[in-house]
Amino acid sequence: MKGNSKELYNASLKIIPGAVHSPVRSFSGVHETPIFFDSANGAKMTSEEGRDYIDFCMSFGPLILGHRDPIVEESLKMALSKGWSFGTCERYSYELSDYLVSRIDHIDKIRFVNSGTEAVMTALRLARGFTRRNKIIKFNGCYHGHTDSMLIKAGSGVATMTESSSKGVPPGISNDTIVCELGDYETVEGIFETHGNDIAAIIIEPLPANNGLLVQEKSFIVKLDKLAKKYKSLMIFDEVISGFRVAFGGMAEILGIKPDICTYGKIIGGGLPVGAVCGRGDIMDYLAPVGGVYQAGTLSANPLAMVGGLATLKQLDANSYIELEEVTNNIVRIIGKWANKYVPTNVVHKSSLFWLSPGEEVISKASNIPANIGESFQVLFTKALEKGIYFAPSAYEVGFVSLAHKAIIHELEVKLND
Ligand SMILES: *Cc1c(COP(=O)(O)O)cnc(C)c1O
Repeated sequence: MKGNSKELYNASLKIIPGAVHSPVRSFSGVHETPIFFDSANGAKMTSEEGRDYIDFCMSFGPLILGHRDPIVEESLKMALSKGWSFGTCERYSYELSDYLVSRIDHIDKIRFVNSGTEAVMTALRLARGFTRRNKIIKFNGCYHGHTDSMLIKAGSGVATMTESSSKGVPPGISNDTIVCELGDYETVEGIFETHGNDIAAIIIEPLPANNGLLVQEKSFIVKLDKLAKKYKSLMIFDEVISGFRVAFGGMAEILGIKPDICTYGKIIGGGLPVGAVCGRGDIMDYLAPVGGVYQAGTLSANPLAMVGGLATLKQLDANSYIELEEVTNNIVRIIGKWANKYVPTNVVHKSSLFWLSPGEEVISKASNIPANIGESFQVLFTKALEKGIYFAPSAYEVGFVSLAHKAIIHELEVKLND
């Protein structure tokens, strides 16, 4: 029997804060009744009411092959029949590690965790443990998960003054996080001149994709990398979104930079909960039980998650990225033409990520995103939903295209043309 989104929503509201288990899923910003989904396949999700939607959220990125890829599904069934958690040594995590280490230049060693947030938490502790320094430089508009020290925004005034962007973060935490503006190399350089010997690492999303899609100049990131090296600080690439998305080796491969530490999530688990901290062998060996930086996880490297990740990654080759780009170009053209009938929109895209950027100007830093972005997005979100097209319910989220979207290009064009 089919449920009903409205009933499920009202019942959930009583026992689940905001009826969601992650705030980005809430429809509160788009003033619609949330849709409860029942199943998914390929590029589509089906609601409790039995209505199909073309999905451009794709679980916020992991599903690069589309929902329920048959090869991934088959591998999961095989693994399931052998047990789903061992809490001891097993072959699955070795096989996924080996696949990655042999294909990605900057990965000598890997530690699997359960989410992108956990990967970042571990990366920061590792950087601090390895360098014996405390301060971390991050950038305004980059998201690194919900760990305390990353929920920090620039305060008014000097760059080194910060404040937390969430209630419940103790004030002391923000003292060791320095927030800079994307693209502003001079300020970062100045901060290194005064605090260089206490900066453990720079952390950056080399393709910032959590606050719109803020494509950066290659030279900016190359200069940051050189600066980090000069002061013996570490470079952490947070590739939780961009890893395996823009190229198999992520932005590191595209930029030709070898980050000291790299974090993954999303695609690496193919839709199951996985995160990973990877990097230089001498740094990774600071992790317990070899080194003194503690990190652990009861369900880390869960066999199903490892198998789902490997079965996904094994299907990605150079052609996949060419195909994803072609499919995205078509989708972006169709959506751009449609959106501009209602509000001026610049559909920014990079590989298989796109963002409905308001207005015509190219935006490359968070502070340039207009404050009323929600209003124009609201119009597009509602109109798309009426036509059976699902975008993530926030103006700041990017759209994700999977290989399965090739099959819906024509349908999308028809839906958005009438
Ligand atoms: C999604 C994301 C995270 C957080 O990952 P979770 O699995 O949601 O904890 C961290 N960094 C980046 C760049 C992300 O896109």
